[in-house]
Amino acid sequence: MDEKKVLELSRFTATYTEGLEKGLLVGSQCTNCGAVYLPPRPICLDCKSTNMQLLEITSKNGKLLTYTIIHIGPPQFRDILPYVVGIVELDSGQRITAFIEGEHSKLAIGKRVELSLDPERKGNSRLRFRLVDEG
Ligand SMILES: [Zn+2]
Repeated sequence: MDEKKVLELSRFTATYTEGLEKGLLVGSQCTNCGAVYLPPRPICLDCKSTNMQLLEITSKNGKLLTYTIIHIGPPQFRDILPYVVGIVELDSGQRITAFIEGEHSKLAIGKRVELSLDPERKGNSRLRFRLVDEG
């Protein structure tokens, strides 16, 4: 990967984490084929184009595709053990790995979740989704 691409990649990553600080989900869209990525990618996986533009992902709800409960974690997350990490599929179709909040006994694949950013955390670890109480 050449230097220009590395710089572009770091710009996309920085924009993504800056977006989370502002409460925004920033993705990228391929201007060639229209594919949308979250987090943003500088290269389209579908058509290999590098003509990508940043865009806000406005979908804040989705479903839990899979999850795991972590009992032994890295030092920066010891205060929240045990915690849940899962893959969420947004209603707009993008899939993203995030912390999942909610009672562990209520976790199940397919459950509805909504965006819940943690202002106490920095960068990527700010991204969370919480289980939606379906009554
Ligand atoms: Zn494309």
